[in-house]
Amino acid sequence: MASSSSTSSSENSGPLLYPISHSVPLVPPPPPPSASSRSTPEGFILPTIPPIPDPLVVIRDSRGHRVLPDVSLMPLPVTDGRVTKLVESHPMVVPKCANCAEMGVDCTFSEAGIPCPPCAVLGIPNCDWTDPFWLMENLRRCRDLYLRDERDELVQSVKDNRLPASLFDREFERAERWFYSGAQGAITRFLLNSYATRDLALHGYRALAASSTDASTLLRFLALGVETHVHPVILQAVGARLQDLFSAMLS
Ligand SMILES: [Zn+2]
Ligand SMILES: [Zn+2]
Repeated sequence: MASSSSTSSSENSGPLLYPISHSVPLVPPPPPPSASSRSTPEGFILPTIPPIPDPLVVIRDSRGHRVLPDVSLMPLPVTDGRVTKLVESHPMVVPKCANCAEMGVDCTFSEAGIPCPPCAVLGIPNCDWTDPFWLMENLRRCRDLYLRDERDELVQSVKDNRLPASLFDREFERAERWFYSGAQGAITRFLLNSYATRDLALHGYRALAASSTDASTLLRFLALGVETHVHPVILQAVGARLQDLFSAMLS
């Protein structure tokens, strides 16, 4: 059974810090059968998919920071093949983040937590691929597909007398644990990817601007940057360097 609770961050819509925290107890009690759960003729409750409540959601901690859930006590390592499959899964045939769609440029999806190349090089902080809400939605989609298959398979096994009805719940919970152990690894890998790629462009441009003493080059960069959708935060960093150079010239 999935558990819920913590893995934190901060406000606003950009890619943020999501420190992993295990301070909140794991494993809530199983949810009661919901109105949409159905009893089968064989006498067991057909589990609701998606589960209610759903553990795969972005929540907020006591300080109002966004947190990613803990959904397994036995997470797979981030290098496990199942984890890789989850972070590399994408519902679109030709994935395109909202920023690239708006700019009309090609987009590339590598894996969850890593921004697409255009967003990365332009310093755009809110690429869909680094959005924890997008991650949760994608994990929910993968889980629901998997658990529906498992549920159907188990129901058929009971009907065919290959599985006692009394063992249905146990087997379904085993399938849930199997999925959530991979999902927890995917969440951790997402966080690591986010940490590793966050603000790379901003720091890079800031370092390059700081190393330049040529105001005309920086002015040309600003003009080009506005045309090519370089994020305003980077333009501000270059602008601040220009101001420093002009102040030094005038003093
Ligand atoms: Zn993109
Ligand atoms: Zn993007």
